[in-house]
Amino acid sequence: MSERKFGFETRSLHAGHIPDAETGARAVPIYQTTSYVFRDPRDAAQLFELKQYGNIYTRISNPTTAVFEERVASLENATGAVAVASGMAAQFAVFMTLLSPGDEIVASSHLYGGTMVQLAHTLKKLSIQARFVEPGDLSAWEAAITPRTRALYGEIIGNPGGSILDLEPLSRLAKSRGIPLIVDGTFATPYLCRPLDWGATIVVHSATKFIGGHGTSLGGVVAESGNFNYSGFPSIADPSPSYHGLRFFDTFGHYAFLMKLRAETVRDTGACISPANSFQLIQGLETLSVRMEKHTSNALAVARHLSEHPKVARVRYAGLPDHPDHERAKKYLPKGPGAVFAFDLKTRPGEERSTGEKFIKALQLFSHLANVGDARSLVIHPASTTHQQLSDDELKQSGIGPEMIRLSIGLENVEDLLWDLNQALHAASV
Ligand SMILES: *Cc1c(COP(=O)(O)O)cnc(C)c1O
Repeated sequence: MSERKFGFETRSLHAGHIPDAETGARAVPIYQTTSYVFRDPRDAAQLFELKQYGNIYTRISNPTTAVFEERVASLENATGAVAVASGMAAQFAVFMTLLSPGDEIVASSHLYGGTMVQLAHTLKKLSIQARFVEPGDLSAWEAAITPRTRALYGEIIGNPGGSILDLEPLSRLAKSRGIPLIVDGTFATPYLCRPLDWGATIVVHSATKFIGGHGTSLGGVVAESGNFNYSGFPSIADPSPSYHGLRFFDTFGHYAFLMKLRAETVRDTGACISPANSFQLIQGLETLSVRMEKHTSNALAVARHLSEHPKVARVRYAGLPDHPDHERAKKYLPKGPGAVFAFDLKTRPGEERSTGEKFIKALQLFSHLANVGDARSLVIHPASTTHQQLSDDELKQSGIGPEMIRLSIGLENVEDLLWDLNQALHAASV
């Protein structure tokens, strides 16, 4: 093959796979198998000792999933990737691989509701403390770091207010403290932003959303830069009791983190992805660029329309010039800041909730459900659904009020979406 570095679209169709030599199958086959025959007993022992790379059991690796992993790694400009059952599983696998009891993590307060709960409550059970900071305030990140801090965490496009993470200074800060910056790239996908190119060490995705793109399959993926020096980082550098004292960083170098995440964390927590889901997510990757173009152009048109609508108080889309992070969006997401954003209804005092309910009920094309990144347009009321586990204080910290509506703009004719929103705003008679 040539030395040519292929473009994004070409790699989204070809990376990680060549047509099946035996059958000629052009599409990636679904290897629906739990286990793999060893060539001989020596081969088996080598595989189990991590002295040889190969498939043992689908909880750890699978050939269909491997294509998905290599394709994501290629699109993220990563050294490699590991796919798991869901976005939540991807984040958790990263935390379990990097953190030990007594460690701390500093995170943006503008996060997916489930992530907030995982960080604040589930990690607490493992004696890991999360400190939340306003993502745009660099000095707050600095101040929250202690000698026990082992990672920084944020979403490239914050949920649901659309804040944009300032990747460059945050990666510099992380580097200066010898800790990795982990970025959730779900709302952007590698088509709109590649956090590793801006100095982040790890990117996680809920592939359930725009990567799959059709609301059919759960999946998550972790990709890593391969250029973080883990030599002084205990969980990756120290001898591992679960592999006879194997030192992952000494042994696997740039691949140490991903090797440990796969061979220990995913092996032991069991949050593997099914080969059938990997297949679905590969189909999503193959059309990612054309879908994201349309998602973002539709989103910008809808955001502009709503921002001029008399029944809308404000629109929080970083693609609009009045958003506080608009300049940052232009820098890190020049093709547009995705297709998920929130807006506030104009309501009378005390009627925030009921007006929101009337509006959602009147919509005809938008589906009311807890998801984003479907080909169809979606709507939800965060305060009563995705973020309802948060206390009033946490809600306020995340910038979520009862008058806020979140949209995920799909691939429909944009005129039809504007029609639907207009008629529902009218019906809610704000
Ligand atoms: C959905 C989502 C998650 C969790 O992913 P699942 O696949 O639902 O487990 C994490 N982060 C963001 C930004 C999400 O939108």
